[in-house]
Amino acid sequence: MKVLGIGAHPDDLEILCAGTLARFAKEGSEVYMCHVCDGNKGSMEHTSEEIAEIRDKEAKESAKVIGATPLWAGISDGEVVVDIKSREKIIDVIRQADPDLIITHSPNDYHSDHVNTSKLVFEASYLANLKLWETEYDASTKLPYLYYMDNLAGIKFEPQEYVDITDTMDTKIEMMLKMQSQLGWLEEMHNCKAPDFIKTVAEFRGFQAAVKYAEGFVQHKMYPQGLTKRVLP
Ligand SMILES: [Zn+2]
Repeated sequence: MKVLGIGAHPDDLEILCAGTLARFAKEGSEVYMCHVCDGNKGSMEHTSEEIAEIRDKEAKESAKVIGATPLWAGISDGEVVVDIKSREKIIDVIRQADPDLIITHSPNDYHSDHVNTSKLVFEASYLANLKLWETEYDASTKLPYLYYMDNLAGIKFEPQEYVDITDTMDTKIEMMLKMQSQLGWLEEMHNCKAPDFIKTVAEFRGFQAAVKYAEGFVQHKMYPQGLTKRVLP
């Protein structure tokens, strides 16, 4: 399988679905990790240009941990809006990966970049297939399954499927620790120690699924993406 994770910012995939991406990679899937935004507002000490460069490196380091291909959609923080231009950028991300499965934000997460990413990915996942929508990349060759990952801290999210990440929990933390610039930022902005935060949510989802650590997902069920089988690990 080819699996594409699309998070709004560099660190969202690490927080919300890296344990599952690590499992896909471990089990032989080709994994792509896209951050829609460059992360250029996520700092109290650097300029926008500096922090964007730092976070680009961090995202690449994190992807490297599981041998994933990093992608960036070419948008800045806070500028993800649902319009034709952004839609086309997401179409191009999907076309580069030509995935069987996409994981992205749920439509009701806490940040407008997350909510709009979710909407854009839903729209683009179908449109990327249309040959007559011409961009610099060839049309993708299949309609991918679409899954929504957990919301931040699990708020307003009821998982329908769980992935046991007990064996990839350390990898998930390792990937998050590549986001060095964000560890202090999250603590300052949200009083949140990222590794503890990640562990607590995974433990809670794991408790629900009767395993040590888990991540929760909801499939966007739609015609004609075969609904008869489980595709998550
Ligand atoms: Zn984010």
